[in-house]
Amino acid sequence: MRSVDEHLAEILATVRTLAPLEVELERSLGTTLAEDVTTPVELPPFDNSAMDGYAVRSEDVRRAAQESPVTLPVIDDVAAGDGALYAVGPGHAVRIMTGAPMPAGADAVVPVEWTDGGKTSVAITRPAPAGHAIRRAGEDVHKGEVVLRAGMHIGAAQLGILAGVGRRRALVRPRPRVVVLSTGAELVEPGSMLGAGQIWDSNSFTLTAAVREAGADGFRAGVVPDDAAVFLDQLDAQLVRADAVITSGGVSMGAYEPVKEALGPLGTVGFQRVAMQPGMPQGFGVVGDDEVPIFALPGNPVSSFVSFVLFVRPALRKMQGLPPETATVRATTATALRSPPGKRSFLRATLAWSPDGAAVASPVRGQGSHQLAALAAANALVVVPEDVTDLPEGAAVEVIPL
Ligand code: AMP
Ligand code: MG
Repeated sequence: MRSVDEHLAEILATVRTLAPLEVELERSLGTTLAEDVTTPVELPPFDNSAMDGYAVRSEDVRRAAQESPVTLPVIDDVAAGDGALYAVGPGHAVRIMTGAPMPAGADAVVPVEWTDGGKTSVAITRPAPAGHAIRRAGEDVHKGEVVLRAGMHIGAAQLGILAGVGRRRALVRPRPRVVVLSTGAELVEPGSMLGAGQIWDSNSFTLTAAVREAGADGFRAGVVPDDAAVFLDQLDAQLVRADAVITSGGVSMGAYEPVKEALGPLGTVGFQRVAMQPGMPQGFGVVGDDEVPIFALPGNPVSSFVSFVLFVRPALRKMQGLPPETATVRATTATALRSPPGKRSFLRATLAWSPDGAAVASPVRGQGSHQLAALAAANALVVVPEDVTDLPEGAAVEVIPL
């Protein structure tokens, strides 16, 4: 048996970060940037008004007060997007809107709230100091400055600044395309009637959703019966669009283990027992001319999901060019725990914070690897190390939030 860490190390040594690709701006969400992005212009590109109001020379409104307003003639009106040239001479005002270019000569904007809002002349009741309510050219970023660095994950705000510096395309590490195949003669599609001995296929849905939650593109290729030849055919058909493949089922010690039967002889996929619970039987390797990584996960629903969290998710992060996650939480266990010797266990639990801020993990009822309902009721995995078999209530534990 190999350890969880050894198995993960082999996986991470095998999977490669995807080659950079130029994509349309809209397609860049959820990808990792593969270039430093600079701005080709000052941002903002020109001095402009931060408020709706009046562009003035601050010295002209220095004495403005509630009881003795300063009244100035309004000589022009400038809206956002107006490209004409305006100027404010001594003793004049220009009505200006938020985002409109500052007229020459003006050094302050008096907010409309400090005035009577006049259109031909305006009475101003408060002084606006020089620079007031003006957004200066380049005060966000200067021309040529880096706004996003290679390696950054593109979320909504990062996509926004790409657009904000005028980019239509960006060089990114694309979202990995991951094909998910379930195997099992007993499986039928949810929504259809269950016959004798049948269950609904849940793994292909869980795993495809988990792929998407991990920021990759999941394709559910559906169910394959327990037939190695059919499995190989299906796999072959799917490989063209896959950066990685996940299968579930068919990797244990029984008869009718199509994944093991089909992939074992290739010599590029290893099947081993990993010292963990749930999820002991694991297959991993590469298939096809492009050496596409394949994760052959066990069929029990909790086992396949936990295997995804431990092995596939870190691999997808590496493929995306993202650093490993280190997000485990220290908590205390609300009940005593048992764990088999020699295996690292991942017990399904609910993680909550007590009023004093301490994290408490309460294992859920139903720790069988088939008990999907218990997994769905949990929001965390309590990690019990290989050499620990008993933990008392209140013991410190490491927890993986789900
Ligand atoms: P296997 O790894 O193929 O021996 O399957 C182990 C257990 O997981 C069996 O009880 C299967 O019926 C169950 N199982 C396998 N695949 C799925 C699936 N896609 N959805 C739900 N249960 C599954
Ligand atoms: Mg099976």
